[in-house]
Amino acid sequence: MAAIPVRESPLLARVGHVPLVEVGSACELAGCRVFATLEGVNPGGSIKDRPVVRMLMKALQTGHLDGERRLLDSSSGNAGISYALYGAALGVPVTLVVPGNASRERLDRIRASGAELILTDPLEGYDFAVAEARRLASEQPERYWYCDQYSNEENWRAHYDTTGVELLRGIIATTGRPPDVFVAGIGTGGTLTGVGRRMKEAYPATRVVAAIPDEFPGIEGLKPLGHPGDMVPAILDESLIDRRLPVRMEDAIPMCRRLARAGLFVGPSAGALVYAACRVAAEDDVRCIATVLPDTGERYVSTGLWAS
Ligand code: PMP
Repeated sequence: MAAIPVRESPLLARVGHVPLVEVGSACELAGCRVFATLEGVNPGGSIKDRPVVRMLMKALQTGHLDGERRLLDSSSGNAGISYALYGAALGVPVTLVVPGNASRERLDRIRASGAELILTDPLEGYDFAVAEARRLASEQPERYWYCDQYSNEENWRAHYDTTGVELLRGIIATTGRPPDVFVAGIGTGGTLTGVGRRMKEAYPATRVVAAIPDEFPGIEGLKPLGHPGDMVPAILDESLIDRRLPVRMEDAIPMCRRLARAGLFVGPSAGALVYAACRVAAEDDVRCIATVLPDTGERYVSTGLWAS
């Protein structure tokens, strides 16, 4: 397969290098500082810009995408928005398989970028959208290149090379030392695996805490793992996880509203991660925690999250 020349887009330079913010005051605990990257300022509004750009560029460079073949993947929303945005910017046609109950602003934003949407039955759950994308890709290999964010190694590598480095550099520059703990959620496992691996390689004493919704349907972007039949993402390196901390939507939402009143307008998974970080911060030996604020609160307006 011959590679087509990779088109330049000035948008790509705006991905990552996001502000590092201190969110520890949300815990009202003295003695532990909590830092997070504000991912909602990426052009696509979420942390998914980082892996999506990396996966797209790799597929263009290796000739899997040639301007004719469509990029195909499943997404619950944020990755879909990033695929649609950068596909449009780079001249790559995009098809996304998305559960039909994804929020209105997500679906409309994907449509606005010109991507093709295939909506699946919400009652079948998200794993069904993944299976549907896999089926389409295997039935029509000339039409589709299956990006497969759950198995694509470029996904975690994007976080290893960017998110993890930004967190470490920013925290060490501010406090003089690396974080004791990294708190992450798991969607594809890209953030946890990439950042967790980077931190543990550089500072083996760093502990990785996975915040996991313990009830269905979970928290937008985070998988409720651990039940029989749950699909464990291929790129998730479970050996990096030192502790699994259950989080509930009713814990995430008040934290989300608290963050909004502190000037950080972020989505429910950010609330869940900061809540989890605050739980960990209550432990004696923890002085500094790193996490991420995965997306903008703008994305949840139609869900009523901000209505009260
Ligand atoms: N939070 C939100 C809002 C997300 O959309 C995602 C990605 N699905 C995540 C967290 C988890 O990121 P990852 O795919 O890297 O595990």
